[in-house]
This record gives sequence, C-alpha cells and structure tokens, in this order.
Amino acid sequence: MAKYPAVAFGGAFRLYLCPLSRYRGKGPTVHGMSRERTIWIDPRTKDLAGTLVHELYHIQNPSWTEEVVLRAEEDWGQFAPWQEKAKAVQLLASAKMAGKGEYP
Ligand SMILES: [Zn+2]
Repeated sequence: MAKYPAVAFGGAFRLYLCPLSRYRGKGPTVHGMSRERTIWIDPRTKDLAGTLVHELYHIQNPSWTEEVVLRAEEDWGQFAPWQEKAKAVQLLASAKMAGKGEYP
C-alpha cells in the first residue's frame, strides 16, 4: 500500500498562474485555489508541485477536509517517486498565465 493517497495528473482541467494575495482574508497566505475543474496557483509559491497536488487532491476528493488534504500533500511530498514529481512539474510547465476574466 502506498504511503500517500493516489493522485491523477491526467484529465481535462484548466491550470492558471496568477497572484492570489487578493484572496487572503484573515487566514494564512493562499498559494492555490480550485473550483470545479479549474486550478489557480500563485507562481510566487515556494512549493509549486506540492500546491498543485494539494489542489488536485481537493478536486479528486471533494469530501476531504482541509486537514486531510494537507496531510495527503505532505505525504506525497515525502513519499511520491520522482516520476510523479516530474509529472507535476510537466503539468506546471503547461500552465497558462491568467488573463482578464480568468482569475478565480
Ligand atoms: Zn486546501
């Protein structure tokens, strides 16, 4: 059994890069957001791959709490093989810069 929950990198979804600081309320800094099949990632984030996987876990497991997703992201970062890290990097490389009307 894997030490982290499975995450799928395929499937059709939109991936955008844009600053997300405007979405910060009183909570912690927002590094990524997702809605339905669209993901937004702040390119100033240190752990871009982890943030992408975090949002993929949200999309693929809508019933999970934030705590469960954070734990899954952490385990993925620690235990996922390099091939999965490479898939995350490839996906990030295909991301589009958000234009007008493409922000969350
Ligand atoms: Zn989250």
